[in-house]
Amino acid sequence: MTEFDLVLRARRAVLPTGEQPASVAVTGGRIAAIGAFDAPVSAARTVELRADEVLLPGMVDTHVHVNEPGRTEWEGFASATRAAAAGGVTTIVDMPLNSLPPTVDVPALHTKRAVAAAKAYVDVGFWGGAIPGNINELKGLHEEGVFGFKCFLLDSGVPEFPPLSPADLVEYLTAIHEFDGLMIVHAEDAGAIEHSPAAHGSGYEGFLRSRPRGAENTAIAHVIEAARWTGARVHILHLSSSDALPMIASAKRDGVRLTVETCPHYLVFDAEEIAAGATQFKCCPPIREPENRDLLWQGLADGVIDCIVSDHSPCTPELKQLDTGDFGVAWGGIAGLQVALPAVWTEAKQRGFALTDVARWMSATPAALAGLDHKGGLVVGRDADLAVIAPDETFTVDAAQLRHRNPITPYAGRTLAGVVRQTWLRGEELVGDETRGRLLSRSDALQPAVT
Ligand SMILES: [Zn+2]
Repeated sequence: MTEFDLVLRARRAVLPTGEQPASVAVTGGRIAAIGAFDAPVSAARTVELRADEVLLPGMVDTHVHVNEPGRTEWEGFASATRAAAAGGVTTIVDMPLNSLPPTVDVPALHTKRAVAAAKAYVDVGFWGGAIPGNINELKGLHEEGVFGFKCFLLDSGVPEFPPLSPADLVEYLTAIHEFDGLMIVHAEDAGAIEHSPAAHGSGYEGFLRSRPRGAENTAIAHVIEAARWTGARVHILHLSSSDALPMIASAKRDGVRLTVETCPHYLVFDAEEIAAGATQFKCCPPIREPENRDLLWQGLADGVIDCIVSDHSPCTPELKQLDTGDFGVAWGGIAGLQVALPAVWTEAKQRGFALTDVARWMSATPAALAGLDHKGGLVVGRDADLAVIAPDETFTVDAAQLRHRNPITPYAGRTLAGVVRQTWLRGEELVGDETRGRLLSRSDALQPAVT
């Protein structure tokens, strides 16, 4: 009789304690045992990784704009979750805006779940939205299993998802704190942006001046103090301004319940290399100078920045204004879900970091942020969500070959290290077209985690 459904044997496996040879045994979709590389376990299926391959936990990307229903031509659940799988990402959490309806009440969450259910190739969870007028919807969304609430402090780019004022933020945090929810914040200050020169034309410099670091710094300072006053748990999305790192570190030292993410594009690109009209690089907050990028890496090394997530926010070629190259009118959002892991690994490796660091930033910590206790690590009892990568093999990104719905990405033409060879979801390899993804709810939500 066989003991386990599956055993994977890897000469290099990234465990929470570090990288080592290991065998990972799986039963019922969960990791049942971890032992030595040649541990004498019997399983219905044994997979031995090649000498150049490393076993990682599947990546957990808590910042993905799927945009379906309503703007499915930008991205949809079928394409986004296939791109995720191809990139070693086994869980995504969908942002509440850019889809129609936005996820700002329980019926909208039900609509999104119904659309995603049949198309999810990897596991999918949902953030709720906090907008003016929906404060009374938050508790219901929380009980229905959203992982937290996203708000903007300035124009979001879509009219159906307006921003909270600084005073609203305090009121909403007070409400969310009552049920110990989580607020995740797009932290750029509306006033600071209004007083900056508007972006126009094809020069990247002008766009950068329109979204200064000061706008982020001002908003983050307010979010920190609002969290301090209310006791609520807050998370800063897509940190770009390294100026904010000292105040974030100080708030954390004070015990403010604060976490922070940054994104691959802020860690890989620098403003000075962005060509005129290259609007595929436009995102908000923007990609900044090389010395800013170095400080973000230092923030990760110091633990001031907790995690790295893609902020995959694509649109159609028309909206990216690739023909005019006008940074003033192009949609702000970068497509990078499928290449996030190799992009970060390529840069991390050059800076002396290890795959254990990458797994912590891109799998363990985002899983913990969302309270996904059964994801994010090669740990007995957790879901057998796995990525097999060849870390030293390189490839050149061909936008047309990516599974994203639209073939536009600033990574096009870049040579990256780290080829994802296999992705496993709850003990099954993701090959072919069968959708095996499940819809996830907050672990302690009243609703069952599986539809
Ligand atoms: Zn976003």
